[in-house]
Amino acid sequence: MENCSHSTVYYGVVNIFLRTAQDPFGAVDVWICTKCRDLFCEDKRWGLTELSSVVGFPKRDEGSKWAILICMIGAEVKWELLEAKPGKQFDHSCVDGKTCPLTVNDNYSVSAAEAQSPSKHSLYLVDGRINRSIIVK
Ligand SMILES: [Zn+2]
Ligand SMILES: [Zn+2]
Repeated sequence: MENCSHSTVYYGVVNIFLRTAQDPFGAVDVWICTKCRDLFCEDKRWGLTELSSVVGFPKRDEGSKWAILICMIGAEVKWELLEAKPGKQFDHSCVDGKTCPLTVNDNYSVSAAEAQSPSKHSLYLVDGRINRSIIVK
């Protein structure tokens, strides 16, 4: 994988819906390398007119998996695309604007360092959800 000169083709999309399958919230485009089967993702926001170029996919950490993080406080929701790896810690900016350090667990769930954080966090792996939907409730 390390030495693969990736040759990617479009693989599919993961759609993110809010509450019902009629309320689209976002989507992630997924490409796959035809040689090493590695996945590449691109965050596709609704309302975004200028899509980034397909060339020059960011390099991923060895052993990490593409995942979609949902952050929710009451009716306020945001999502982001990230590279998840068990044990990985990162600073995430919550839907209320506060910084919340998160840790990826062995089962690819996430834990907030601050137990009193008002946000509810869920992590969804992209692999296995291609051409399927995530419905945030
Ligand atoms: Zn490859
Ligand atoms: Zn958050």
